[in-house]
Amino acid sequence: MHIEGILNEHYSLKEVKMSTLEGYDSINYKIESKDGVFVLKQTAFSEEINKLLDAENKILKKANTLENYDISKVINTDEGQPKVIVEENMYRLLSYVEGAFLADVNHTPELLNSLGGFLASLDLKIFSEHHSALKGKETNWDLKHFKSNYKYLEYIPNAKDRSLVDYFFLQFDEHVVPVQYQLRKGIIHNDANDWNVLTNDGLVSGIIDFGDMCHSWLINEVAIAMCYVMMNKENPLEIGLEVIKGYHEKFPLKNEEIDILYYLIAARLCTSVCNSAYAKTLKPDSDYITVSEKPAWDLLRKWIAINPIKAKNQFRKIVGLQVIAPNNKDLQLQRRSKNISNSLSMSYDNVIEMHQAAFQYMYEVEGNTFLDAYNNIMLVGHAHPKVVRAARKTMARLNTNTRYIYEELLSYSELLLSKFPKHLNKVFFVNSGSAASDLAIRMATIHTKKEKIMVLENGYHGNSKAGIEISPYKYNQKGGPGRQQHIIETQMPKTFGSGFDHEIDAANHYVKNTTEQISTHENEIAAFIAEPIVGCGGQVPLPKGYLKGVYSEIRAQGGVCISDEVQVGFGRLGDSFWGFEMLECEPDMVIIGKPMGNGHPIGAVVTTDKIATSFDNGLEFFSSFGGNPVSCAIGKAVLEVIEEEELQKHAKTVGNYLMQCLKELQTQYPQIADVRGSGLFIGVEIVDNQGNPNKKLASKIKNNLRENHILIGTDGPFDSVLKIKPPLSFSQNDVDELTHAIAAVLSGLSKV
Ligand code: PMP
Repeated sequence: MHIEGILNEHYSLKEVKMSTLEGYDSINYKIESKDGVFVLKQTAFSEEINKLLDAENKILKKANTLENYDISKVINTDEGQPKVIVEENMYRLLSYVEGAFLADVNHTPELLNSLGGFLASLDLKIFSEHHSALKGKETNWDLKHFKSNYKYLEYIPNAKDRSLVDYFFLQFDEHVVPVQYQLRKGIIHNDANDWNVLTNDGLVSGIIDFGDMCHSWLINEVAIAMCYVMMNKENPLEIGLEVIKGYHEKFPLKNEEIDILYYLIAARLCTSVCNSAYAKTLKPDSDYITVSEKPAWDLLRKWIAINPIKAKNQFRKIVGLQVIAPNNKDLQLQRRSKNISNSLSMSYDNVIEMHQAAFQYMYEVEGNTFLDAYNNIMLVGHAHPKVVRAARKTMARLNTNTRYIYEELLSYSELLLSKFPKHLNKVFFVNSGSAASDLAIRMATIHTKKEKIMVLENGYHGNSKAGIEISPYKYNQKGGPGRQQHIIETQMPKTFGSGFDHEIDAANHYVKNTTEQISTHENEIAAFIAEPIVGCGGQVPLPKGYLKGVYSEIRAQGGVCISDEVQVGFGRLGDSFWGFEMLECEPDMVIIGKPMGNGHPIGAVVTTDKIATSFDNGLEFFSSFGGNPVSCAIGKAVLEVIEEEELQKHAKTVGNYLMQCLKELQTQYPQIADVRGSGLFIGVEIVDNQGNPNKKLASKIKNNLRENHILIGTDGPFDSVLKIKPPLSFSQNDVDELTHAIAAVLSGLSKV
């Protein structure tokens, strides 16, 4: 039957003007007639939906006892029925609610406050209603069932976006699931979005569309309303506070509800983007379905930059609950120094107590968010969900050692070795970069039957006894043991500061230099170890040609060549996955660690068949933890994320942009003498008026940035080099923030 026929036959409405309003699960017609304006809702028949519509009608009746607001009213048929069933469809006629959509008006604090107040008043009417159909209703849009949206994650096309959403799925497990049974549950509207809420004269005047109503946590009503008014705002948190305030004044919220609001808001945004992604695959041309997709993504990206502690405290404060005070730093320092030696240093003059972290953000206990431009270990980003999931899944199933066969060891070693040249085909797993360098040196001496090790000035390779012995950066320092007899230290080759304008000239000079040293120890050198970019030496890239030249000299006298890729490996350099590839040479051994497990302690020595065979001399090699299933699963997840999120390419693009911005600063500020590195592994040499290393200024920049909530480090023999090596989730916007902050310190200086 035609719509006109239904209106005529059941509602005595004639000569109507009709237009279609798009809806999620129903078709809505706007009906204009001489008897008034209405909305006719057409829903496909099913027993379950039929019962839900009965419930909705009942709740609408109750909601309409709310005075001074305009809420859709059910118009009964001429026969006194709230709906008609014709053929396969159910029809309901509702009053048309007048007013300007919340989406179309200016969001003043009064309006936002009235939104909270209105929803509280509505909930006071409907929350305690009982209806078994609503109690049993299961919808993806009910945040109580947020995790049912996980199946849609795969429809989000971009891997980085998927990771962001997955992060919040994980946080929901951590923060919401444990308290779910403490939350008040009842009937809520569940969709106070800005196209459902109506306003009049700058205040909320009514609401439509009860189709998403469900029996859920009270606090979800607030979370959902907040999401939509926070979209497209510079300062979402402040905007959202007004809604909470208005709500709480009429329907007081509880501590445990307020405390999970941050994660519920994220959950609603994730529900929205997951469903949009899925819906797009079904109806690629529908604007309605994806109307809030872009602003939801924008808000989600802003949301993750907000420290959850800050959000929680602001929410608490606005409703008059006690805020969580940060720990007293002096007391924390006292506790630390009681058990932890002072030989373990801390970063920054004003040390930071960290609480949580996500991708390139670190959240401190005081509520600030730090942009992390320093922690290279968190290669794919802090708390990356794929890595966390790999860890917890494997840990809950099997953790053992390499004396058994298990899939994780097999598949990870295959995947890891596929990243290396063919001749590097054996891997020995350990738990740190230090354990790897220690083992590499032992293997080299066994293989070559020689004792001497050649190292680069300022090099650092580990904290074990052997590690310190091969690390001039440590043994030459105050308190260091000095150089041992079997160590040959060669000059750190560099372009900047060498007097050579061209890399190739610097390379030739240092190759000659090192070769002369090698020749005085002919046939005694077991190994030469160097990083392709000397991190602790001040992010100094070895001039191209140097390693190639030295490697052949070392091999000629019977030694092996070790590339320490602990800092630079795994794609960070942008152009190449490994530093030795950048320098176009092939080592006999590679040591890896730090980013390999994205913060999980794992390291390895990767070497040739020949060296591994010499090492297999009858003495068992065993590491209790090296190569355990959990570590292998984590390592594999890291490699997969690098691939899926195209992080090497990202490191190149963002790294090139960072380099360009810093070089621009160099033209403006003479204090920057050199900008060097590759991809997202960059050093900035800070000097004084005479061009000498300026530790004081480097430290000032670092500490000033810290006060502005950006983390960088300093290093080098004079501690005068700014060290920038962020998680690879670091974006071009982050580069702007970082370089503006550096410029601000330097421009402040020039004014003095
Ligand atoms: N090699 C290099 C180049 C390093 O930077 C480090 C750590 N700073 C190590 C080895 C030792 O790694 P770990 O701290 O994991 O033992």
